[in-house]
Amino acid sequence: MDAHSTEAEFDPAGEQVEPAIPVLRPRLPSAEQLLPYLRRIDATRVYTSWGPLALELEERLCGRFSLPLGGVASAGSGTSALTAAILTAAGRAAGRRRLAIVPALTFVATAAAAESCGCTLRIADVDSETWQLDPERVAARADLDEVAIVIPVAPFGRPVPQAAWLEFRQQTGIPVVIDGAATFEIATGQGGILGKLPVAMSFHATKAFATGEGGCVASTETGMVKQIGQALNFGFSGSRDSATPSLNGKLSEYHAAVGLAELDEWNAKQEATVRVLGLYRESFNRLGLTDRLVCGPEVGSIYVLFQATTQLEAKNVAASLAENRVSHRLWYGGGLQTHTQFAGCQSDLLPVTEELAPRLLGLPFALDLDERAVERIGAAVAHGVGRR
Ligand SMILES: *Cc1c(COP(=O)(O)O)cnc(C)c1O
Repeated sequence: MDAHSTEAEFDPAGEQVEPAIPVLRPRLPSAEQLLPYLRRIDATRVYTSWGPLALELEERLCGRFSLPLGGVASAGSGTSALTAAILTAAGRAAGRRRLAIVPALTFVATAAAAESCGCTLRIADVDSETWQLDPERVAARADLDEVAIVIPVAPFGRPVPQAAWLEFRQQTGIPVVIDGAATFEIATGQGGILGKLPVAMSFHATKAFATGEGGCVASTETGMVKQIGQALNFGFSGSRDSATPSLNGKLSEYHAAVGLAELDEWNAKQEATVRVLGLYRESFNRLGLTDRLVCGPEVGSIYVLFQATTQLEAKNVAASLAENRVSHRLWYGGGLQTHTQFAGCQSDLLPVTEELAPRLLGLPFALDLDERAVERIGAAVAHGVGRR
């Protein structure tokens, strides 16, 4: 059923209610759009391991990202892309240098990738303005001689500055890999988010550019990208000899087919995105809540964030959304440290994340969200803000 279908729904008392609005309703290429690519797979009988479709996808992505050919390695997920980038930049953690510095405000995949490379996590707080690790603060840490890798995260797709982190790497000699999972849109623009440091992206169904499951690593350093491709394929390069730390993190031809069809549709997808975000801006402007709306192009387009001023206000807005059958999500929960697996990790004091994470309410996004739905969402938010 449609996100905002006119089909009647009823509550337990038999009263007709507005249909629920899900927080995210992705739309990937249709069967018809995929068919020409699937027929190519039938013809070549190549199903994975950098077949023609994966290579074409990498080439077209290099064009989109304004990178030299060889600047993109496709991967089976954002997490495998990040893992291979860590293995290539820092190897498997060993000896005295075992720590991975990760920000608390991120999706758990950042921490899971670092752990799978043998790292011990050290969870650090983010900056209250940028919502990400601050390179100068990390450079001033007392434990740098134990640090194997630093993984700055682009929160909600907000870009991580390459220049400042390159300087950090030069000063400290510590490798840096950027978790830019949701930065596809910013990487295709003029933002300058790509450069020498490897950026791992996710093509998960919940991201703006999606292949179902998938991802890539992008960098101007094509030699390093090649090594990352090797780490994604059992450490093989030109022979069956496993020569580097590795995993199986390859993108299959079927997922590459989705990526190619998604690229064919990308301009239309962006137009639809601009329309929906325009509706949000108009609605929040009328409600006098413009300055609380954080959405594209500042962040990745699926993140339509309402920034509550206090945790009480966030609670009130969440309650009002629920009463109006509008779903929302704290995309990063309360931060890494609140998850069972990471609660016991060594962590700095996290005042910014603890205060900020519960205030960033993810509102619904879908390419076909209509004006009526956005009005309903805006009204529910305003009602929550008005409560005391
Ligand atoms: C989506 C996401 C990932 C994980 O990507 P997958 O493709 O799901 O493995 C990693 N980090 C961040 C910040 C993300 O948003």
